[in-house]
Formats: sequence, C-alpha cells, structure tokens
Amino acid sequence: MVTESYSSTWQACLSQIREQTSADDFAKWFEPLVPLDFDGTTLQLRVPNESYVYHIEKNCLQFLRPILYRLFGMKTRLRYVMPKAQAATPVSGAADTTAIGKFIAQTDTANIKNPFVVPGIRKTIIDPQLNMNYSFDDFIEGECNRLARSAGLAVAAAPGTTPFNPLYIYGSSGLGKTHVAQAIGIETKRRHPQMQVLYVPMNKFQAQYTSAMLNKEFNDFIQFYQMIDLLIIDDIQEIAGKEKTQNAFFTIFNHLQLAGKQLVITSDKPPVELKDIEQRLITRFKWGLSAQLVQPDYETKVKIIRHKAARLGADLSEEVVHYLAENIDANVREIEGALSSLVANAAFMNKRITTALAKEILKVYVRISLKEITIDDIRAVVCEYLGIDARIFDSPKRTREIAQARQIAMFLSKKHTKASLTAIGAAIGGKNHATVLHACKTISNLTETDKAFRAQMEEIEKRVVMKTKG
Ligand code: ADP
Ligand code: MG
Repeated sequence: MVTESYSSTWQACLSQIREQTSADDFAKWFEPLVPLDFDGTTLQLRVPNESYVYHIEKNCLQFLRPILYRLFGMKTRLRYVMPKAQAATPVSGAADTTAIGKFIAQTDTANIKNPFVVPGIRKTIIDPQLNMNYSFDDFIEGECNRLARSAGLAVAAAPGTTPFNPLYIYGSSGLGKTHVAQAIGIETKRRHPQMQVLYVPMNKFQAQYTSAMLNKEFNDFIQFYQMIDLLIIDDIQEIAGKEKTQNAFFTIFNHLQLAGKQLVITSDKPPVELKDIEQRLITRFKWGLSAQLVQPDYETKVKIIRHKAARLGADLSEEVVHYLAENIDANVREIEGALSSLVANAAFMNKRITTALAKEILKVYVRISLKEITIDDIRAVVCEYLGIDARIFDSPKRTREIAQARQIAMFLSKKHTKASLTAIGAAIGGKNHATVLHACKTISNLTETDKAFRAQMEEIEKRVVMKTKG
C-alpha cells in the first residue's frame, strides 16, 4: 500500500463504517478522526481525546476490524494519537507495556482480543471490565441501598477526593453488591473518560497474582495496578487465608491511597467480621465508609419488579406485580430469577401472565427461599465435614470422636431448628433431653475456650446454612 493513499483509503473505510453505524454515532465518533500516517502496518489516527479510544476499543472493533483488514490489509494495527493537552502524563517508572499488556489481556472478559496496539502514544488504556447492564439507571433506589448508592454516586463524581475511601460495600449474596460496584465504575468512566478504571473480582486478582509470581512478573503486576485511578475489588472476603496475595494487595492499596486514587471494595461481611485477613488490611478497610446492603422492603421490591419486567419486555398487571412482591421474600437475584422464569413460561406456553400462573411458578421459588434446616441436613453436614460415616454416627458406637460429632449436631439442631430437646435426642442417637442439654452446654463452653474448635464450629455452621440456600 502506498502511504500517500492512506487518506483516500480512510475515506473508503468511512463510507463502509457509515453503513454500520447510526448517523449520530457516525458523526460523533468517526467524523472527527483524522488519519495521520500509515506505514504499511500501523495506521495512526488522531482522536480528539481518550474517550474515543475507549469507545472504539470497547464498542466498535467488531465491525471496524474487518473493514480495516479489507482496505488496509490483514496486518493492520491501530495507533491512537491524542492532542498534547489531552494526553495523560506518562506512567511513572516507565512501565514495560508489553508485560503490562499481559495483565490487560488476562482481565479481558469483554471478548475483544485486541489485535491492535492498545497503548496510545503516551498511555496504556485499560479495559475497565465493566458490564453496561449494571448502571445506576438500572439500580433501583430504596431504603435498603440508599447509603451505598449515594456514596457510590459521590465517589463517581470525584474519585479519590471524598471521605469515602475506600468505599466498602457489604451485604449477603444477591443484594446488589456487584451491580452497585459496577455502576460506580460506569458512572466514573462516563464522567471522567480519561480515568483508568478497573473492576476485578478477588478470585481473578488472586489468579493474576499467582501467574505473575510463576512468571517472575511481580513488579509488572504491582505496576499495572498502580496505574489505576479507580480500583473496584469485588468479593474481598475471598482473599482470606492467602497471605501473599494479601501482601501484594496491601502494597497496591497503600500506593493508591497515597496517590489520592479511589478504592471500592465489596464483601459479604463487614470489616470486623472478616476472617483470616491481616489486621492491617482490615484497619484500612475501616478508614473510609462502610455501607450495608439489606433486603429490599415491599415498595422497593415493587419498583424492582416493574423495572425488570419492563427490561424483559413483559407487561405485568399491577395485581401480578403486587402478588410477586408480597410472596417473594428473598434477595433480588431470586426475585429476578422468579420473574424471568415467569415471563419465559408465559411466552413459551403462549399464556397471559396472570396471578394464577405466577402462583404456579412461585411454588418453586418460595420453596427454595423458605426451605427450613432439618436435623437430617445438620447430621449430613457434620458427618461430611468430620469425615464420619453416617451409619457409624447413628450406631451405638461411643468413641470420643463420634460422641463429640453427635454433640455438635445436637447443638446445631437446637440452634437452627424448631425441634424440641426430646425430638433432637430421639433423632440423634436415641438420647434423652438431658443428654441434649448437656451437649449444648459442652459445645458452647468449648466454643468459648478453644479457638481452633470455634473455627471448626463456624465452618460447619456456615455449611449448614449454605445447604438450605439451594
Ligand atoms: P451480589 O453481588 O450482592 O451477590 P448482584 O449485584 O449480583 O448481587 O445482584 C443480583 C441481581 O440483582 C443482579 O442481577 C442485579 O442487577 C439485581 N439487583 C440487585 N439490587 C438491585 C436494585 N436495587 N435494582 C435493580 N436490580 C438489582
Ligand atoms: Mg457479586
């Protein structure tokens, strides 16, 4: 390809791009682009600012790539050039962009395996890993999430400069932690397109850390994370017990804090209840603001159901909406599940969505959310956890180990079921109520005095509760 002709080739590209975009998008995102140079492989495009790079990389590559390949050749790479004033300052420490590129690729869930040069002239653009379905527009406000939502909006308006740093959002599963965390990222990117935003679930961070250590790229790993202006870590509790990852995260946390960068952290529990996480990290989590998400109240449920139904394109009568809100007493994820199952069933069977149909579908969901813990559930968990054969558990055998397993099961049955002491005794080894009472006292004493035993009890109890959550 002759370099002089790149301008006219770009014009040909533009007319093909025009066919693939709306007139507005075309005028906004493509008309301002200016081809500066083409050396046979790299096409340099001048873009007005960084938001163009972000938008093109995120939303346009799929149709842009074939056009560029067709007209400029299969090896074409893109390089973005920004006017000087817009360009970000260089990353301190002259980051090695190839190694850093690896971390970007690893976090790339957005299925853009980018064949182009991602680094602009001066700055690497990080794919923020945001899911556009999780914006604030789609996050219904209620008493249950007011603090987290408004703190999140404040953070997005001025990341790093509010007292909410870190912003620590916690609550049980399915209450909207991931959604609100993503929404903060989306809103930040919308208001400050030049900022480096990254959403990363803790397990992914952990995996990146491990592979960085294996490949002796620890410094690149740290450097990559230090480039970020808003770092969103989802499900921080998963760092528990992983000391080295905690150290790495501590380093990153401190660097970002000192540099006035923003952290948003989510967790299934408040900082004080985190287990197996270094105290110095927990202390830092408490520095900013902790905001809890709780179950939505009736009014909020109604709003969420209306909103999600509209999104699914379903027309629900007020009666059905209120029926659902009254009868689903679970987290938002289950509300959503029940609703989409209802809509799908109606469409599939070509039925109207009536309260009767809702009732039928809900039977499944209500059973899940109301399932009670039984003594059998507890016995199964205890046996499995302690590696005891259930038949031996039920036999008259009386080793110390088996006796204690039965005591644990009795204690948990007393705590988690409505069964009487007599019923518990009868179900576990045919004992009388006095034996059960004694077991409860023994276990509760042990829990208070023996730390290792307490940890074990907590783990068993967690599994018991999990078991009934479906
Ligand atoms: P968590 O991360 O706390 O387990 P998610 O953020 O994954 O929960 O939320 C579960 C589902 O519920 C998601 O589909 C999310 O969109 C939805 N959801 C939660 N809270 C709200 C809300 N206030 N408004 C709208 N949708 C919500
Ligand atoms: Mg989540």
